[in-house]
Amino acid sequence: MSVRTFHGGRLLLALTTALTGAVAVASPAVADPGGTPAPAAPLAVAFDTAAARYDVPRDLLVALGYAESRLDMHASTPSAAGGHGLMHLASTPGVRTLDEAAALTRLSPAALRTEPAANVLGAAAVLRSYADQAGLTAATRDDVNVWYGPVARYGASSEAPVARLYADTVYDLLRVGFTGRGEAVAGRPVAPRRGGLERAAVLGGIGTLSTDYGPAAWAPASTSNYTVASRPGSHPVTHIVIHTAQGSYSGTVSWFQNPAAQASAHYTLRSSDGAVTQSVREKDIAWHAGNWTYNTQSIGIEHEGYVDNPAWLTDAMYRASAALTRSLATKYGIPKDRAHIIAHHEVPGATHTDPGPNWNWTYYLQLVNGVTGIGSGTVIASASSLNVRSGPGVSHPVVGSVTDGATVAVYCQAVGSTVTGPYGTTAVWNRIGTNRYVSDAYLLTGHDGYIPNVPRC
Ligand SMILES: [Zn+2]
Repeated sequence: MSVRTFHGGRLLLALTTALTGAVAVASPAVADPGGTPAPAAPLAVAFDTAAARYDVPRDLLVALGYAESRLDMHASTPSAAGGHGLMHLASTPGVRTLDEAAALTRLSPAALRTEPAANVLGAAAVLRSYADQAGLTAATRDDVNVWYGPVARYGASSEAPVARLYADTVYDLLRVGFTGRGEAVAGRPVAPRRGGLERAAVLGGIGTLSTDYGPAAWAPASTSNYTVASRPGSHPVTHIVIHTAQGSYSGTVSWFQNPAAQASAHYTLRSSDGAVTQSVREKDIAWHAGNWTYNTQSIGIEHEGYVDNPAWLTDAMYRASAALTRSLATKYGIPKDRAHIIAHHEVPGATHTDPGPNWNWTYYLQLVNGVTGIGSGTVIASASSLNVRSGPGVSHPVVGSVTDGATVAVYCQAVGSTVTGPYGTTAVWNRIGTNRYVSDAYLLTGHDGYIPNVPRC
């Protein structure tokens, strides 16, 4: 909002604050928790118990779960790769962590799949067995850096660069720190002992670059999982199909390398930073749409995460994915509209629901069409801080706060509930981070309402 519309005093502000609940009491800003928090205590106890029983570093266990699922059980729905629960225990060709967990813990496969405490216990048991087989001793197990081999083995990737990606993801989380579902792991220096994987290529580095799309890494799918063709000569490329992977980034790339998958996509995006890996050449036909005609005529793009958890849908991933789609649409002459850039669930005969209701098509299409600016604003709150909500309106849950006077980025702007604040009355809301919104009535952006070249969402 522009200061030009300012007309309120403290009295009006206090009144509207009471009506809208838009202003928080003084409290420190909190990190973005994302999604709907689950009760924290049982999960904390589950990690305490599993870490103690199997002598696995607790933070390592939490980081692995965070990398796999953001500590989410997904209502017991397995991942695309057949992994169950927050620790992704699987019983598929090439991945036997669920069976191993059942043998080690003597818990039933059903409990391991569906009960969070059992799921965590099972993963800890498997990791410990891998540590024992790798020769880790009681004296060394406290050092998180010696667990790299067991972690990489748990990821069960058949290709060294993807195995390294899996384990590096866990150690990067330990290095940076993270919070979610009541768990808070502080960052710390890490120096993982990668063993043989130290010599494995880093995806996106030399020898692993896509020849189709410059920013992408190349990690080829199993030849059992796609059809060789010579598009666009053999088949026109007319659509781009947007997916949610129902799995992690490295897990999805790894799954496409498993001959048992019988599935693939051309590209997969990472939630945290928008990194992209290509698995199938654009000239070839990936098996992603569940419809042969659509497979032959489309490019499939997977996004790390799960349909039922919006925490995965970061601004970084939206923007990187849109840049890829924009490039593809230009290359193949595909109109940059919703008739040609479609959801998996819009493919005729689709049995999947992805990318689901949390995917913001307005935002995505704006970015695809080149509206890619990022605005900035200054928070003007009557209290010491302003509530941040998970969506554009006061009906959405409060997920944090920003302090009066803080400068925030504006990734996109949405129409939501009408709010009156220091900068007047408006229905415009600003997305200031992943699933974090504040009313434009409390933000000095230098513009009335919409900011030029900042996308709508
Ligand atoms: Zn899909």
